[in-house]
Amino acid sequence: MKEQLEQIRAQALQELSNGASEEQIEAVRVRVLGRSGELTEIMRRMPEVPRDQRPAVGRMVNEIKQELEERIARLGEQQKRAAMERSLAEARIDVTLPGLSVPRGWLHPVTQSRERMLDILESMGFEVVETPEVEDDFHNFGALNFPPDHPAREMQDTFFLAGGLLLRTHTSNGQIRVMERRKPPLAIVCPGNCYRPDELSVRASPMFSQIEGFMVDRAGIITMAHLKGVLTEFLRAFYGADSGVRFRASFFPFTEPSTEVDISCLLCHGAGCRVCKHSGWTEILGAGMIHPNVLRAVGYDPAEFQGFAFGMGVERTSLLKLGVDDMRLFFENDLRFLRQFRSGEAAI
Ligand SMILES: [Zn+2]
Repeated sequence: MKEQLEQIRAQALQELSNGASEEQIEAVRVRVLGRSGELTEIMRRMPEVPRDQRPAVGRMVNEIKQELEERIARLGEQQKRAAMERSLAEARIDVTLPGLSVPRGWLHPVTQSRERMLDILESMGFEVVETPEVEDDFHNFGALNFPPDHPAREMQDTFFLAGGLLLRTHTSNGQIRVMERRKPPLAIVCPGNCYRPDELSVRASPMFSQIEGFMVDRAGIITMAHLKGVLTEFLRAFYGADSGVRFRASFFPFTEPSTEVDISCLLCHGAGCRVCKHSGWTEILGAGMIHPNVLRAVGYDPAEFQGFAFGMGVERTSLLKLGVDDMRLFFENDLRFLRQFRSGEAAI
């Protein structure tokens, strides 16, 4: 009996080695210490033991039971501690390290300029409307009174797409899109991207952005005087109250009469310098009274309605405003350049 007990003990201790898994430990506990386990079985067979040996066997059973219970408890502790150490090691955080800095972005200088321009125009009562960049010939040319043989319609001046579509060459399609579905009074500005097959250069880019604006009401209400007043007010709000503004007669298919608008040179303030070719003035936008053919194209009677329209390049106005002398800088996105115009600074 003693030998059997010794064997049970040795076997159990071997199985309860330091590397024993939770399942192995539980298996030993059930087999040896369980209600119908090996030690219980020994106790049940106690009557077979000679009377004088019973106390010694009983003691031995108790000792083994205690030893194994302690061993199992210690292994459980060890496993718990190991699990905790593992999870601590995995989630180790040194709270004394400096945090990761997240760089703050800011708006591109051209976006800042565009938003400033739209802010001014909205404060003057204009409503901002987005119109499509992919257009058909009618909305980009035909309705704007471009004759069928106008050079702007040629391959080298326009990106044509499949199905008779094209990438708009100006935001003037906005006039047609809005007037087609709405009736005057209208005071609208349409910002957006335009495309022309130009090489990227100091002065031009195949993609650029414009703001188109127009104001239409019953005949006699909106005149050339309003055009001059609105544009002068806008340009002085954008470039400074002391900017000179000059209107020159010009020609565009979609306006009659047409005008080009100059502002006094921002560098020499009218005295004459290399940038303004010593004229003291810089051309800034095109405008005019909306051509009667354009009004007819959208179903307006030119005897009943009239209005003015203007269009300007956002990159070009930004170049002058920011004193930048190369259009490509706006598209290369070199952070050393862009950092000079952190939010708000280009718009002030
Ligand atoms: Zn100048």
